[in-house]
Amino acid sequence: MMDTNNFDPRSVDVATFARRGGCVSGTSALAELARLCDEAHPEARPDAGDELRWQVTGESRAVRGGGAEIWLHLKADAGLALVCQRCLQPVVAGLRVERSFRFVADEHQALAIDADIEEDVLVLSRTFDVIELVEDECLLALPLVPRHEVCPQPLTVAPDPIGLEERKNPFEVLGELKLQRKPSLG
Ligand SMILES: [Zn+2]
Repeated sequence: MMDTNNFDPRSVDVATFARRGGCVSGTSALAELARLCDEAHPEARPDAGDELRWQVTGESRAVRGGGAEIWLHLKADAGLALVCQRCLQPVVAGLRVERSFRFVADEHQALAIDADIEEDVLVLSRTFDVIELVEDECLLALPLVPRHEVCPQPLTVAPDPIGLEERKNPFEVLGELKLQRKPSLG
């Protein structure tokens, strides 16, 4: 097992992590993920208590007749308050990520493989930022048109001030005016 106490998700030696079959989970403050915060409702931005939960698992996959393939498997979830496109009030979207990435030695290899298959291919690094990748994936997981299933009641009308309901309706007032005039006309 990995020594998970010293694990820094912002700087992962991917090949070593995968060879050891590392599996680490943790949380990061949503408020520190600027790109995700930019997507939040301006009046409901993440605060100190809002967390992104993540898990990263490394895998060294034996391949017949070749070197082992190196993989990272990501899982993450978070709740982010977005702008409802119907009522413009905050609507919390659950962001859920579950993806696997294959790592190769260099950009050339990545391009060659990318053209060939459907896998997500990244270039190996000794200081790979897992949280940045998780943030990328969360951005991709954002709903295109965020909205409530049922919007809350719009707060456009304030409760009637006391006495307003006792005001006479315009037709009654008009009727009274006519009655008052009649005698003077006669
Ligand atoms: Zn709404």
